[in-house]
Amino acid sequence: MINPKSCCIVGGGPAGMMLGYLLARRGISVTVLEKHADFLRDFRGDTVHPSTLIALQQVGLLQRFNALPQSRINRLSVRMGEVVQTVADFRGLAPFDYVALVPQWDLLNLLAKAGRALPHFTLRMQHEATALVRDGDKVVGVTANTPTGERQFLADLTIACDGRGSTLRDRASLAVEELGAPMDVLWFRLPKPHASNGELFGVIGAGTAIVLIDRIDYFQVAYILPKGSDMKLRSKPLENFRQTLVSLAPELKDSIAAIQSWDEVKTLEVKVDRLQTWHQQGLLLIGDAAHAMSPIGGVGINLAIQDSITAANVLAPALAAGDELNDALLSRVQRRRLPAVKKVQALQVALQNNALSAVLAAKGQAPKIPAPIRWLLKFRVLRNIPARIIGYGFDREDVQ
Ligand SMILES: Cc1cc2nc3c(=O)[nH]c(=O)nc-3n(C[C@H](O)[C@H](O)[C@H](O)COP(=O)(O)OP(=O)(O)OC[C@H]3O[C@@H](n4cnc5c(N)ncnc54)[C@H](O)[C@@H]3O)c2cc1C
Repeated sequence: MINPKSCCIVGGGPAGMMLGYLLARRGISVTVLEKHADFLRDFRGDTVHPSTLIALQQVGLLQRFNALPQSRINRLSVRMGEVVQTVADFRGLAPFDYVALVPQWDLLNLLAKAGRALPHFTLRMQHEATALVRDGDKVVGVTANTPTGERQFLADLTIACDGRGSTLRDRASLAVEELGAPMDVLWFRLPKPHASNGELFGVIGAGTAIVLIDRIDYFQVAYILPKGSDMKLRSKPLENFRQTLVSLAPELKDSIAAIQSWDEVKTLEVKVDRLQTWHQQGLLLIGDAAHAMSPIGGVGINLAIQDSITAANVLAPALAAGDELNDALLSRVQRRRLPAVKKVQALQVALQNNALSAVLAAKGQAPKIPAPIRWLLKFRVLRNIPARIIGYGFDREDVQ
């Protein structure tokens, strides 16, 4: 008789919710533990890239996703001084020629609803995993704080999808390779003075840069600053910060005046790292828990979703058949995903250490894009290349 194996997924972010849904739709008993009471947390990634749109289409959720309020962008442009340059162009790419911007909680709620409609899917909110439960060397579940006290959740396989500050990564004492980042990011909202024009816009100044992310009725703004300089900036009057913003985007002067307190400005400490090994007996880590990405390109969500697709493709047959979940099987997930993670992180680190470091070090005048690169970017087919990398990633997998 077949005895299917069970899974406990820790973390209801994009990786955990997608994986929970994908496994449950293949008849595998899955419990997802999420520490928060809802998905309504601000300042999370909002970009749903073509690779994720393809996955949603493959599982039959694209129509429901399209019904969510969203804006769509088809190009990324930057302004340096007087010069505006489109650096990535999705137009002409197929099957999707845009990135959808959807509040992350809407995407997660959609996956939660789709999951809850399946008999083998359980989502437990306000359940925070605090420790691994072991039987000898093998992980056999987690201990979690729940609204009714501490409880154990036992499973044949525990999958940590608990993000860049992963508790389970710490508890498993897995070795982390730090790749470093020269910048941190401040996040805040600005009222949007005009309608969307399908463009994600960055402004590069001397020593800083901002990116304006279109969220239907306001801009989510990322302000890039040298690593560790956040406290120094915050020790100065808010007015100085507003003036720097106005010098970068004078057209948003009235919106910038709406920032009334430093409390409206949140700091993201940028980390780029990856685990050397993504698994132990009975335990697998994916998404940010296995590899925290730089915000460059806004690709963390696609990578997390792609990890969950690979994990479901690799693990579902063995889980369903009740096979042993040995190291060889778990390592297949890492082997299939690591090349894509390494390529994206290498590109991010190269951009951080060259272009971004030059921007952060610039004094007086914003650096310029070198003339040969600007000449190349005149051709849409060449602007399509960064868009394809951002939108479709490397080694994309289809949902089985
Ligand atoms: C400010 C900011 C802006 C970003 N912007 C973008 C963007 O525009 N585009 C993009 O692609 N990426 C962006 N990212 C990165 C993106 O959010 C992540 O790469 C992506 O969400 C990773 O998904 P994940 O599921 O692996 O982890 P997460 O999204 O971090 O999800 C982890 C989940 O686990 C839960 N959790 C944590 N610990 C526990 C525990 N012990 N027990 C139970 N639950 C737990 C958390 O509450 C969370 O819901 C941004 C990140 C930040 C911080």
